[in-house]
Amino acid sequence: MKYDVTVIGSGPGGYVAAIRCAQLGLKTAIIEKYNVLGGTCLNVGCIPSKALLDSSEHFHNAAHAFKDHGIELENLQVNLQQMIQRKAGVVKSNNDGIAYLMKKNKIDTYYGLGSFVSKNTIKVTDAEGKEQQIETDKTIIATGSKPTSLPFLPVDKQRIITSTEALTLTEVPKNMIIIGGGVIGLELGSVYARLGSKVQVVEYMDSIIPTMDRALGKELQRILKKTLGFEFFFNHKVTGATNEGETVKVTAENPKGEAVTFEGDYVLVSVGRKPYTEGLGLENAGVQLGDRGMIAVNDHLETNVPGIYAIGDVVRGAMLAHKAEEEGVLVAEQIVGQKPHINYNLIPGVVYTWPEVASVGFSEEQLKEQGRAYKSGSFPFKASGRAKASGDTDGFVKVLADKETDEIIGVHMIGPRIADLIAEAVTAMEFRASAEDVARMSHAHPTYAEAMKEACLAATENRALHI
Ligand SMILES: Cc1cc2nc3c(=O)[nH]c(=O)nc-3n(C[C@H](O)[C@H](O)[C@H](O)COP(=O)(O)OP(=O)(O)OC[C@H]3O[C@@H](n4cnc5c(N)ncnc54)[C@H](O)[C@@H]3O)c2cc1C
Repeated sequence: MKYDVTVIGSGPGGYVAAIRCAQLGLKTAIIEKYNVLGGTCLNVGCIPSKALLDSSEHFHNAAHAFKDHGIELENLQVNLQQMIQRKAGVVKSNNDGIAYLMKKNKIDTYYGLGSFVSKNTIKVTDAEGKEQQIETDKTIIATGSKPTSLPFLPVDKQRIITSTEALTLTEVPKNMIIIGGGVIGLELGSVYARLGSKVQVVEYMDSIIPTMDRALGKELQRILKKTLGFEFFFNHKVTGATNEGETVKVTAENPKGEAVTFEGDYVLVSVGRKPYTEGLGLENAGVQLGDRGMIAVNDHLETNVPGIYAIGDVVRGAMLAHKAEEEGVLVAEQIVGQKPHINYNLIPGVVYTWPEVASVGFSEEQLKEQGRAYKSGSFPFKASGRAKASGDTDGFVKVLADKETDEIIGVHMIGPRIADLIAEAVTAMEFRASAEDVARMSHAHPTYAEAMKEACLAATENRALHI
């Protein structure tokens, strides 16, 4: 078979790239190593973690918030098996959805490992070892990433686990130790803390979610301690872990250089992810790697070999599904001669804890480093009528605007449902709105979104109305 474009990998980068190529009239193939489509995000990432986050949040609310709402329950119990089964059902229905989209767009799907034979020939080896070759004019590599492990702390998938195993546990841990206070660790830690686990986070740096605006990490840390009993151990250097059968021991050096030990029934290693290119045969096409195993690409996401592109987690930038999707669309449109553009500064970042955390644009720390003059306006959810009605009064919205022009240059939120609310900030910033522009727009009452309007009012001339 001969194709205009072949996409290797069916995660959010790959399958979206394939759909856009097909929409643009290109004869397209997609190759996926596993026998299901959707990649990390759908199978062991975004979707299953959000399914468990929702289920565990319902349980937590039933146990701790319902009474205040006048709802009394007796004999409340967790059925973890049902939770995990429901999660698997959610994943399966999305797998089927992507398979349907491939069919609808007349994209040929190949299940098997894709590897370059040469620049224009790709071999697909299926699970039984059967091989076939396809010819292609252009190739989009979207092979994603895998969890990073620590060299001195090998993952055994029994007691020492990654996010993948944490999504299929068969018991609620009594004590879960989490190495790394980043997004994935805090999300999965929240799942199990809500179900009753004691969660301890051991972090090398001095704060959680350290790449986001510092105010967010500080507030989230306070809330996770208060509502879920999280314990945080900062500036701790983990030195090893041993599976003791029923339990696991983690050793670390505290800030004073003393050896300390943590004991739990599971340790979740969530110290980041690394680009995945194993078995791709990049050398046969002459494609070069860049820093830290990433595929090197130029501003057009083209590798050093003309006609071979790479997108998503396997290239530089934020390891996020929506970033991978935008890159898939960009490459497809470039292939047919269009001139698309991605504003990487406006890719939002979200943490799906409760309250949720979301951010777009520059943080205060970045603006200070740039020496850029800015104004800041905040509005706390405790002053929001909507938040009081639901009982979700933790958190705030912070808007940063250019001191001279009033253009919004950063929005940082922690609060209820703000994973969806951040889209308003992205829209405003894409259209280069000023804080006053948003402050003058009608926001339905009562909504959480009013906090965005109020923070913009505060940033404009300190004229928030409800505080
Ligand atoms: C627990 C967890 C939660 C997450 N939550 C979120 C979230 O809420 N929001 C968000 O934006 N991001 C989230 N992420 C990150 C997100 O999953 C990734 O950014 C995203 O999946 C990257 O997409 P991708 O298309 O680049 O690669 P992937 O989704 O990793 O897909 C790559 C695919 O390529 C296949 N492949 C690899 N090599 C070959 C080969 N040689 N031949 C054929 N197929 C191959 C793989 O099997 C895989 O299916 C989460 C990640 C994890 C682990």
